[in-house]
Amino acid sequence: MTGPPLLEVDGLRVEYPSKAGPTYPVDGVSFSIDRGEVVALVGESGCGKSLTSLALLRLVPNPGRVAPGSVVRLDGQDVGRLENEALRAIRGGRIGLVFQDPNTSLNPVLTIGYQVLEAVTAHRRLGKTEAKQRVLALLEEVGIPDPLARYRSYPHELSGGLKQRVMIAIALAGEPDLLIADEPTTALDVTIQAQILELLERLRATRRMAVLLITHDLGVVAGRAGRVLVMYAGRLVESGPTDRIFSDPAHPYTQALLRSIPRLTGPIDRLAPIAGVVPQSAAWPLGCRFHPRCPLAVPACSSETPPWRATAPGHEAQCWLVEGTR
Ligand code: SF4
Repeated sequence: MTGPPLLEVDGLRVEYPSKAGPTYPVDGVSFSIDRGEVVALVGESGCGKSLTSLALLRLVPNPGRVAPGSVVRLDGQDVGRLENEALRAIRGGRIGLVFQDPNTSLNPVLTIGYQVLEAVTAHRRLGKTEAKQRVLALLEEVGIPDPLARYRSYPHELSGGLKQRVMIAIALAGEPDLLIADEPTTALDVTIQAQILELLERLRATRRMAVLLITHDLGVVAGRAGRVLVMYAGRLVESGPTDRIFSDPAHPYTQALLRSIPRLTGPIDRLAPIAGVVPQSAAWPLGCRFHPRCPLAVPACSSETPPWRATAPGHEAQCWLVEGTR
């Protein structure tokens, strides 16, 4: 890949005020995404994945904010310096968003056609007929059968899978260069999950669109993302090519995540849930934040933040036990 990345994130922090001083549920996250690339951001609930994606678009819920010094660049343009109108052109425009639950994202009293039409006309000036044609084309592109009939349907008349396809059509309305899909299949049946993930892959390929796939489930990532970013307690702890993350995970947290998902090949082992929970951001532990849950912790882990170390080109982890130096 030549040229600068499509998205560059450098030292992203999200700050929330509290009586005891500010807390940082996203705390110094850096990564990049190239055009047409699928990158998965993986970690348990509460580790800061969704907040990271909202912070990319300056949509951090009140009373939080993106902390000064955080840098997000889209095609080299600093998103943090954009005025409101330019930011709106990026939100739902150059960057599309798909959330977990289409039931809460779609308006139950408006037709599917109207809701996609709103998204289409929010980003382009089109005549009535042209706008409707665009909506029908989008519904067809995301695999909704008989788009003309569905145009007049209400959300409750559609299955969960079809509703999620409508959400994807809405996200595509602004012709995004990057689609952020935050747990896009978690609320769906397993077979429908696979269909939605296949649809995202087809759209990525045909549109040359990058995808940031956010999930708590490493199982949905295999074969679908080129790279994986593993997040724990507000920070990235490992990043690397997906095949290496699966075959040779370096960080004990990644290893634990992998042991907690079912495998179709290899010996049949018991699934091993990770003991304990992700701590609250007001109580991030000192040193390596995973140390209270880590079965391999050594004394340094509870007092000093480990350095990033590379295990192979493009594969690095933040752990005292990893060989090699960044
Ligand atoms: Fe475990 Fe220590 Fe590595 Fe953290 S730095 S993952 S506590 S071994």
